[in-house]
Amino acid sequence: MIDKQEEMNSIEQVLLNSVCPITMCPIGEAVRGEHCTHLQCFDLQSFVSINAKHKRWQCPICNKRTLIFNRDLFFTDLLKGFMRLQDIDAQVEDKFYLEYNLNIKTLRERGKYHDRYRMILEGDKL
Ligand SMILES: [Zn+2]
Repeated sequence: MIDKQEEMNSIEQVLLNSVCPITMCPIGEAVRGEHCTHLQCFDLQSFVSINAKHKRWQCPICNKRTLIFNRDLFFTDLLKGFMRLQDIDAQVEDKFYLEYNLNIKTLRERGKYHDRYRMILEGDKL
């Protein structure tokens, strides 16, 4: 039987999106619902404005209903760093991989070309 820690250790990278799955615009305030178990966040303002009309209050990623949100400061920092990369290199696509060692692996030209950037821990040294 695989316990939770072994399961975590087996994850080498996670595909994330720097744009909100609701609007496809850059995520401003990165949040997820209180019951969400995924790393991907969505934009709070987009979520509230779309649900003010449709009243579903479902996470756009896992579909769990939620009225309570958790702000994710790690994801916010990740987005800030990723946007710096996009400023430097306009070819970098909106999706990226976060590797187990906190390296960012960017996608270019429809995923054919990757670069690695160690940016989260090193911050402004880019
Ligand atoms: Zn969710």
